[in-house]
Amino acid sequence: SEAHHQLHAFFFPFMAYGHMIPTVDIARLFAAHRVKVTIILTPLNAPIFSKTIERDRSSGLDIHIQILQFPAIEAGLPEGIENVEVLTSPEMVPKFFVAIKMLQEPLEHLMEEHHPDFIIADMFLPFATEAAGKFGIPLLIFHGTNFFYQCVQESLKCHKPYKGVTSDSETFVVPGLPDKIEMTRLQFTNDFKVETEFNTKLMDQMRDAELKSFGVLVNSFYELEPAYAEHYKNVMGRRAWHIGPVSLRNRDTIDKVQRGKKASIDEHYVLNWLDTKEPNSVLYICFGSMSRISRSQLYEMAMGLEDSGFSFVWVVRTLKDEEVERFLPEGFEERMEGKGLIIRDWAPQVLILDHPAVGGFMTHCGWNSILEGVTAGVPMITWPMFAEQFYNENLVTQVLKIGIQVGVEESNSWIETKDVSVKKEKIGNVVTQLMGDGEEAEEMRRKVKELSEKAKRAVEEGGSSYEDLNALIEELKMCRKPSP
Ligand code: UDP
Repeated sequence: SEAHHQLHAFFFPFMAYGHMIPTVDIARLFAAHRVKVTIILTPLNAPIFSKTIERDRSSGLDIHIQILQFPAIEAGLPEGIENVEVLTSPEMVPKFFVAIKMLQEPLEHLMEEHHPDFIIADMFLPFATEAAGKFGIPLLIFHGTNFFYQCVQESLKCHKPYKGVTSDSETFVVPGLPDKIEMTRLQFTNDFKVETEFNTKLMDQMRDAELKSFGVLVNSFYELEPAYAEHYKNVMGRRAWHIGPVSLRNRDTIDKVQRGKKASIDEHYVLNWLDTKEPNSVLYICFGSMSRISRSQLYEMAMGLEDSGFSFVWVVRTLKDEEVERFLPEGFEERMEGKGLIIRDWAPQVLILDHPAVGGFMTHCGWNSILEGVTAGVPMITWPMFAEQFYNENLVTQVLKIGIQVGVEESNSWIETKDVSVKKEKIGNVVTQLMGDGEEAEEMRRKVKELSEKAKRAVEEGGSSYEDLNALIEELKMCRKPSP
């Protein structure tokens, strides 16, 4: 006797690949746990996921997409800007958030129409907390980051240890954490570093929305950062559920179709190419969906890779989608034939990382990328660019010890790398260090393989992430209001 209706969840992702991909994965996860799911997307972002969602529905899941118009023009942006990936200058960022804020009213209309029992919204959409409040339903926040970052940021906010140093490059210890974590002010996220009215206000709204929320969903697993999961929940007193790695739990259904955008290179071509290589012999290089490499850094990277002598798959994105070939060293592509594969634009990252030939991952330290690297059991070279990526680097190198820093010191304020932040000699050395058979690299490979096993166990029935999701759904069932 089912006295209650089926739970119905709204999912509202932030319009960036690094947020939409895991949010859709989480939505599919809830659907697999027999929750009815509605994902809110905009006209240009919906088609990226519609095939996957349609397939899920035809295999019996109760999963749907609702489209909200994105008010780009009303907010003073050019038409067609619906994703941070296509913002072409930092001045567009505040306008993007103006447009986002305008989505509150249409969201409330959707809620009136569909009566969701709860909402899962990105931290960048703090108005959703207010909307949920109006309807008296729980709202959960999705950060897109990890426990470690949340703990570090909170310690910085409360203890302000960075006030005690005399220069931006002087190291200080982040107090009150389970490990001794060292950082510099140069590594701060931009919102922290540049206290513009826009940044401060958005940060305050986000924090306020989180404190008023039902709790936080974290795409991580307990065994990866147990001390920080405990710290976040018990010392900081936040309610949170760890349910990841979400890419792993969905992999059997999601990998066959292209998640995200259409891969710009035939997936089979890359995988067949990797099939011809020895296990652990290829370095995979990718800086996420947003970061762009400058012309001179592109050149330097090519030289460093060539000098190292290792095989590589390199995903290259430049600022204006320029002809990459024009900025590579003379004859580079001919010399690298069979040895290095360059992918322009979008790569099937999860599939590449999972291939046995891949033995190292040079990453910009976006959280999804790191978690995907951990899940695949691949040690990393860390090349953070901006946002919270330097914090993630600290997690990888200081806490987990499964990666080597390439040695970037300063966080960018925008998506393109500085002219040359890392020289070819350094690149060559670090690649050799990670891909070679030294003891340090051996130890990293051993550690990351162990974490990969734990990641897989976490999402299986009885595993920590599986059980946390079940516990959350049970709790949400208790909050359910009778059908209208
Ligand atoms: N991604 C991909 N192919 C690419 C670039 C990115 O599949 O060529 C995926 C990657 O697997 C990850 C997401 O896009 O799931 C990027 O998120 P992340 O947090 O790593 O970085 P961001 O793009 O947000 O900086």
